[in-house]
Amino acid sequence: MHQNSDETRALREKIFEYVRTRMDYDPIPLDYPKSEQELFAAAGLTLSEDGMGGDKALRLFEEVLAPATISTDHPGFVSFIPNAPTEAASIFDLVVSASSIYGGSWLEGAGAIFAENQVLTWFASEVGLPKGSGGSFVQGGTIGNLSALVTARQSHREKLKASGAQLQGRLSFLASKEAHSSLKAAAKVMDVEIVLAEPSADGRLSAQAVSEALASQPANSVFAIVATGGTTNFGIIDDLRGIGEVAQRNGLWFHIDGAYGLAGVLSPKYKHLFDGSELADSFIVDPHKWLFAPYDACALVYRNPEIARATHTQHGEYLETLTESGLWNPSDYSFGLTRRTRGLPLWFSLATHGVAKYRDAIEYNIDVAHEIADVIRSMEHVELVRDPRLSVVVFERKGWDLNQYKKWSDKLLKDEIGFVVPSSHKGKPNTRFAIVNPLTSVKLLTQILESMK
Ligand SMILES: *Cc1c(COP(=O)(O)O)cnc(C)c1O
Repeated sequence: MHQNSDETRALREKIFEYVRTRMDYDPIPLDYPKSEQELFAAAGLTLSEDGMGGDKALRLFEEVLAPATISTDHPGFVSFIPNAPTEAASIFDLVVSASSIYGGSWLEGAGAIFAENQVLTWFASEVGLPKGSGGSFVQGGTIGNLSALVTARQSHREKLKASGAQLQGRLSFLASKEAHSSLKAAAKVMDVEIVLAEPSADGRLSAQAVSEALASQPANSVFAIVATGGTTNFGIIDDLRGIGEVAQRNGLWFHIDGAYGLAGVLSPKYKHLFDGSELADSFIVDPHKWLFAPYDACALVYRNPEIARATHTQHGEYLETLTESGLWNPSDYSFGLTRRTRGLPLWFSLATHGVAKYRDAIEYNIDVAHEIADVIRSMEHVELVRDPRLSVVVFERKGWDLNQYKKWSDKLLKDEIGFVVPSSHKGKPNTRFAIVNPLTSVKLLTQILESMK
């Protein structure tokens, strides 16, 4: 509904003004969540037949709702995986919104999809995939993993059919015990089994463990092997080369879940950690995690996109004009039809700043992780759980139980210093710094460590 009037223009300016204020915050307020009751007391019922008017709604957002919504780009937000978009990427998300782009089909979204595809092609070549690989941007790693695994299963079924081989038992895919929860979610949705192989003591999944787990499964039941390129908990990178070779020898699909960590491949200094990534049949990486793009975006790439197209294309009378066009339709490569061109903010920022800045920023995050690990080693009251690999640092406050972590964490948030929640490993509480924000400094993290004394 595009209508220009003095009233819509005035509101537009006010919204732009709010955006300018938000982008200019220095420091960014971390903010603090409120309960439903507290929010209702302050905001009341916000919807009515006649509306409250844009001015009032905007003020309500600015004064009541936004302060109760944590800013995940605050430099002290280091829990889960934070989000640290460049200003160019964030602002360009407004352009995507303002432009009413349908990103599902080339016919409708050609120009925008052209730009998104250049990002996918570029990243695929960094990972080592050949020309001709491609995919699409989907909303997150969960949907990306699911889409890749559904494609892998289809590929497996076709191979079985072609060879006349018999399947014994239920279909399954193989992953590490340290793999992300979204893989278990995918297995549930697909109604297949997930075989969890035991990682080595350092948390890394080895080729041998994969071979052994594979040998224990009924013939032809395993359709894919998933390796993680940077676990969310620890930043551990599985033996990609070894596992990829096992997959190849067994004619199995090799998927790399790189939602958080695969961005690390951009750093020349740490690229070797991803040796073997070029063997992947598919991979994912989330730009909203470590490629400095706003929520929400996952780049999903296949070595052979044709199999994905045959798997995911939706058919229907009103759609055939698109599916029969022979054009590149991003919706054909993942689960879902209507699609926001969520890769465009990343494209704009990459085109603006150049790839080298990304390499530097990622390398800097990893360097900060290694430096703060040294600080932890030098302190009496804290202890590393594991040496960091990428930009996640997991450590314990010696002698603390979960309650003490919780109390400390809540105070840290109330004081708007940081968002650092308790985590655990093998039943023991700990906490972690996930560093993907170039504004997250050793100094700030040291201050957070000091607050645990
Ligand atoms: C975050 C993450 C996912 C899930 O991605 P979403 O974008 O949150 O859906 C999957 N795998 C790994 C390794 C992750 O870190």
